[in-house]
Amino acid sequence: MKIIYTDALIVGGGLAGLRSAIAARDKGLDTIVLSMVPVKRSHSAAAQGGMQASLANSVMGEGDNEDVHFSDTVKGSDWGCDQEVARMFVTTAPKAIRELAAWGVPWNRIGKGDRTIVMNGKKETITERAEAHGLINARDFGGTKKWRTCYTSDATGHTMLYTIANEALKRDVVIHDKKEAISIIHENGICAGVVARDLINGELIAYIARGTMMATGGYGRIYKQSTNAIICKGIGIAIALETGIATLGNMEAVQFHPTPIVPSGILLTEGCRGDGGVLRDKDGHRFMPDYEPEKKELASRDVVSRRMMEHIRKGKGVSSPYGDHLWLDISILGREHIEKNLHDVQDISITFNGIDPADEGEKGWMPVLPMQHYSMGGIRTKPTGESTTLKGLFCAGEASCWDLHGFNRLGGNSVSEAVVAGMIVGEYFATYCQKTHLKTNTLTIQKHLEAQTDYLKEILTYDGDKNIFDIKDRMRDIMQDKVSIFRNGKDLEDAVAELESLLKMTKEITVTSKTIGNNPELNEAYRVPKMLKLALCVAKGALERKESRGAHYREDYTKRDDVNWLKRTIATWTNPEDTMPTLSYEEIDISKMEMPPAFRGYGRKDSIVLNPLSEQRVQEIEKIKETLGKVDRFRLQEALMGFELPRDYKRKNERVGVGYA
Ligand SMILES: Cc1cc2nc3c(=O)[nH]c(=O)nc-3n(C[C@H](O)[C@H](O)[C@H](O)COP(=O)(O)OP(=O)(O)OC[C@H]3O[C@@H](n4cnc5c(N)ncnc54)[C@H](O)[C@@H]3O)c2cc1C
Repeated sequence: MKIIYTDALIVGGGLAGLRSAIAARDKGLDTIVLSMVPVKRSHSAAAQGGMQASLANSVMGEGDNEDVHFSDTVKGSDWGCDQEVARMFVTTAPKAIRELAAWGVPWNRIGKGDRTIVMNGKKETITERAEAHGLINARDFGGTKKWRTCYTSDATGHTMLYTIANEALKRDVVIHDKKEAISIIHENGICAGVVARDLINGELIAYIARGTMMATGGYGRIYKQSTNAIICKGIGIAIALETGIATLGNMEAVQFHPTPIVPSGILLTEGCRGDGGVLRDKDGHRFMPDYEPEKKELASRDVVSRRMMEHIRKGKGVSSPYGDHLWLDISILGREHIEKNLHDVQDISITFNGIDPADEGEKGWMPVLPMQHYSMGGIRTKPTGESTTLKGLFCAGEASCWDLHGFNRLGGNSVSEAVVAGMIVGEYFATYCQKTHLKTNTLTIQKHLEAQTDYLKEILTYDGDKNIFDIKDRMRDIMQDKVSIFRNGKDLEDAVAELESLLKMTKEITVTSKTIGNNPELNEAYRVPKMLKLALCVAKGALERKESRGAHYREDYTKRDDVNWLKRTIATWTNPEDTMPTLSYEEIDISKMEMPPAFRGYGRKDSIVLNPLSEQRVQEIEKIKETLGKVDRFRLQEALMGFELPRDYKRKNERVGVGYA
């Protein structure tokens, strides 16, 4: 029985996991990070576009601050987010960018004077302020009011992840890669660590810690077409669900990105549209202004994705051997801009499609189609990042439902969340680890290890006629066809029924190779049932949610319903033998909101069932403002909705030209 003890255990070596590890080491805790792959190959490295933070350095970001970032995030979430978490986030994001700069991330910088940009399909000149010369630049991204997405050309995630990994290594964080957590060890409602499987030799190891954090990323690979790396299977989320205690939030909230390239699904960053690229149909017509006159290509992702599919349904898609698609045209930005700022996009397009997007006109247009991209749902946590129900289990980053994003996350808010949550949740997690004396019984550890050993052995004895890869492919097809951008009750019912029967079928397989280590077939045999449980949470959550909110769009309930559905879906897997999740709901309280629900400013205006409590809250807010009289925005904000944050992160952020105002 191999047992490894540590103070702080972090499962996942992406941006969120590694930044949390730094927080733990900075408090002197022995810290181990587990990862399926070498940490610098985590999915975070694929982020191209950038990281949102309201620095307000560029002239296009002038006037930006925490309040504007907060408002964009809440509207983007379609009021599904936890507004206190959104406040914690926007207050810390500028500090995260600056910390990363101090650690060496080569953020693109501002040069004073004139520069040419493309806006609304036309070249324009903007003049950067002399006092902003050399400061961190930002691009137009994520449907935000001000330009606030900081970037390192189009390799932002790469430079961020390498830098944070280097900082973690510098602090002696211990990294065990090629290890996969396959179950959570818990006793009396307290988390004690995980059972991990060595992906090379199949050995099972119990990692025991005072506190455990899941930072395992999203669950995109339950879909057939996804921009996610193949390790994004959601196993970390599934093993939390399998405890029967930890809960998952809003699993049906799945984001589809408008512009992955066809057919590979590799992402072409939103930075393409942010920098001025446009979408065209089979006639070369730029169609987005017809649907979204204000935001055009830069409306939120759920809106652009739906408009694209709507346009294809009208027969305006370009037919291809891989189905209909539309075009993304960045050639209008000019070769120099592309080679400097969108170099990876150019590389992807040339390597995988033989198209140089800098070539002028049709020749340079890239085929694109919306595909699964981001998982807003995940392990439900308190604002501290601790599971609401399983003590000692924390979660940060895409794996979590913290819940910053509600039903649609803004472009650039996700790498930002990963790092910011790594700072904030990392801090709460580290404090928890410092204070906790774990009393877990060795027998409990042994029991958990044996249960996993027995389970894997049992899989090898299955003697059925089904194949695990076929089951997986069928699951991914169902999710793609029936739990996608447009959803309806009939398809969702069918999806739930078939996913349930697929889950039962996972015991009717035969694994041909019987070796315990280095056996990809065995890997799938224990992963696919976990993925199916998540798929069921998504599909069942989508079926029961009889409204349209953010990325969850029901053709049979097209309105956002703030009267009946201003709530978070909570999924549990109460009994290991269950074949369906148990759903319940967590109300979102309008009376505590700083920003009561209203129109998002894009999408369909007539499609909201407003709750009368929203108007009541608006009036309350007006009264609070009146009573306070002339106060600064910080005092007003505190009066409207208080929020907790470790002291260092609550400090005010300085901005060029305005100081700390
Ligand atoms: C192509 C692409 C481009 C993107 N671009 C942007 C962008 O420009 N801006 C933006 O804000 N967001 C972007 N995103 C989203 C953003 O990159 C992710 O949300 C974010 O990086 C997630 O970070 P993370 O630390 O939560 O998880 P990840 O980086 O996914 O890391 C997860 C870690 O968990 C490990 N792991 C998983 N399961 C297990 C297990 N069972 N046991 C052990 N280890 C496990 C993995 O090995 C990995 O180390 C993009 C996403 C995609 C797909």
